[in-house]
Amino acid sequence: QSDNMHKFSKVLGSAKNIIVVAGAGLSAASGIPTFRGKGGMWRKYDAISLATPEAFKENPSLVWQFYNYRRESALKVKPNAAHAAIARFSLPSIRQSIAPDSKFTLITQNVDGLSPLALEDALSKSTDAADKAAQKSVIEMHGRLFDVQCTECNHVEFNRSSPICKGLEGTEQLVEKNAMDPEIPFSSLPRCSSCGVLARPGVVWFGESIPHLEVIEDIVAEADLCIVVGTSSTVQPAASFADEVQEQGGKVAVFNLERSEGDSNADFLFIGPCEDLLPKALGLEN
Ligand code: NAD
Repeated sequence: QSDNMHKFSKVLGSAKNIIVVAGAGLSAASGIPTFRGKGGMWRKYDAISLATPEAFKENPSLVWQFYNYRRESALKVKPNAAHAAIARFSLPSIRQSIAPDSKFTLITQNVDGLSPLALEDALSKSTDAADKAAQKSVIEMHGRLFDVQCTECNHVEFNRSSPICKGLEGTEQLVEKNAMDPEIPFSSLPRCSSCGVLARPGVVWFGESIPHLEVIEDIVAEADLCIVVGTSSTVQPAASFADEVQEQGGKVAVFNLERSEGDSNADFLFIGPCEDLLPKALGLEN
């Protein structure tokens, strides 16, 4: 793998438009379960089947409980070494010595907010005013776990409080003890602070379209290096970004615990935990 690392660092060093396309595996070491593989279940439900507009229409109480659980878990954890390496790499003052005069964007499918937190931390340690530009370098393409969005007027509010649903205190503990199958009454579900109608988690569910996709597509169209981190590459449109970069003559590097969909054409394959391999590959081990 060290030969591979060496070749990768050469490509990294000459790249001008670098993107990282990240998925749930980026946050796995922080303790947030992925959707596929072990941990993809919540109670007796398949996590993927709850992250849909159909599930919310049928049982908003159940879906809010699932998101309340995800909010609670995300509040308990911290960014890991892979988030931190990407955040540091996004700072122009640090990137200058690794990939001089390059642009950088992280396009993450994760909704947990850990990449923005890692960036905040990296920025707080920087003394270079030019690094402020990195604030715009994270795109959370599937929305944010802590956004609450009206189902009627689309008003969005950021809310990091937990629990978000009244009457949910202790629910997870009860579930673990199999004491009961709790239900949140409809009247206690989050409401839009602007118009009072039922609100939903501000995330993009399976089958829904990505907001501002054209902005993301423009960034992908310019990229000459795509670094794919911790994604099964099964969810579109993110799954096809690497192919697009390769079709336009760019290089692709894949970091995953195991072989994944569509990695057969990758120029570089780093199999192992991204929290170990990515800081090394980006030249940011310490
Ligand atoms: P996924 O669950 O389909 O795949 C996760 C991938 O990460 C797998 O290929 C797995 O092998 C790999 N992986 C696990 N641990 C890793 C590690 N330590 N290092 C490197 N790779 C590792 O996730 P996905 O491709 O992101 O698609 C699932 C969808 O669900 C996404 O759209 C995302 O929005 C959502 N999701 C988000 C979160 C989150 O915000 N943290 C968590 C679960 C699911």
